[in-house]
Amino acid sequence: MNVKKISAPRKLPIAFDPKRSWPRKDGYYYECMICQDTISSMVPTYVRCRCRTLSIDPEAGRMGARDESKIQLFEKRSP
Ligand SMILES: [Zn+2]
Repeated sequence: MNVKKISAPRKLPIAFDPKRSWPRKDGYYYECMICQDTISSMVPTYVRCRCRTLSIDPEAGRMGARDESKIQLFEKRSP
C-alpha cells in the first residue's frame, strides 16, 4: 500500500464566519478551494487569487470573496 505523508508545516483549519469578520494574524492563511491559491492574511498589498474569487486589500482594510463558501481559513504551524 502506498501511504502519502503530508509534509510540514501543518495546516490547522480555523473556523470563521465570512459574514462577520476575516481574521488577520501571523500564520493565518486563506485558501481558495477553487484554484487552490493560498494567501497570507497579513499580505502588505492587494492580492487576489488566480481565479479572482478571493481578494485581500489591506490598504483599504477589506477582504472578501465572490463565493465565501469556497474560502477556507487555516493556520500554518511549523512542526
Ligand atoms: Zn481562487
